[in-house]
Amino acid sequence: MAGRNSNDKAAWITELIRDWVNTSPENTLRNKAGDRAWDDPLVGFSCGDDAYWESFREHVGPYHWTPAEAFMLAFPNGNVSPERLTVVSWVLPQTGATKLDTRKEKTYPPESWARARFYGEAVNEKLRMHVVAELAKAGIRAAAPVLLPQWSRMPSEKFTFASKWSERHAAFVSGLGTFGLSDGLITPRGKAMRTGSVVAELEIPATPRPYKGHQDYCLWFSHKTCKKCVARCPVHALSEKGHDKIVCSKHVHDTCKAYIVERFGFEGYACGLCQTAVPCESGIPSPGEGK
Ligand code: SF4
Ligand code: SF4
Repeated sequence: MAGRNSNDKAAWITELIRDWVNTSPENTLRNKAGDRAWDDPLVGFSCGDDAYWESFREHVGPYHWTPAEAFMLAFPNGNVSPERLTVVSWVLPQTGATKLDTRKEKTYPPESWARARFYGEAVNEKLRMHVVAELAKAGIRAAAPVLLPQWSRMPSEKFTFASKWSERHAAFVSGLGTFGLSDGLITPRGKAMRTGSVVAELEIPATPRPYKGHQDYCLWFSHKTCKKCVARCPVHALSEKGHDKIVCSKHVHDTCKAYIVERFGFEGYACGLCQTAVPCESGIPSPGEGK
């Protein structure tokens, strides 16, 4: 790392993530065909002292960590100032094959989507560990907040459930997308994706956020059109008012889980229908797609 300027560091970390996702045999749905779990990722960076982190205490919950708090839990003996930290965030897009399978479904997820939610999140965990390890090899301290033993989901007055570190909020701050009516993050590769992040002790210029508001890319919030995700939900958990997480969770964690165990033979849970066959599935939707 010595001698690299901040643009070189950004390019190095971006390639490190892309290379692992695009070439590692770990990126697999663990099905017979050995299909890959995730497509070519997007990577963004944000500063540890971005004003949004403090605002999440109000908008998400008082328990939501700032990058410095997460970092200090991982490295309790080292003092670090927020401006010396960078959040590295990534988007792992669903593959074309998984999206094609899921578009056809009306009630339950297909096997590929269920595998992406279950085994694909295990891939995301390995990616977090890989990034932390590669940074450590270069002498840079880093930690993945959601892998810290102190991380947990939390009850939330506003959102029903939230957590001490939200990967989607980290991606939003890191210039990777804005929230949609169904709560998913709409990114340049769409909403059918998962996100991950690490907090690292290095200074990299923040990725520009090409949006002003946190819901700019959603056609419902920007043009009062679309609502196609509402029609996709088999249990009416979505409406103009947003996402009923209790109804959604019951479908995902009870009904779909039982279906996945019986039909596909593993203990996963998933749904994802509102992330496919909608204008924001694979990119930022244009106003004409909302009609
Ligand atoms: S389907 Fe339409 S209304 Fe729903 S999140 Fe996407 S853009 Fe917004
Ligand atoms: S994940 Fe499934 S149950 Fe939940 S809101 Fe989306 S379509 Fe509805």
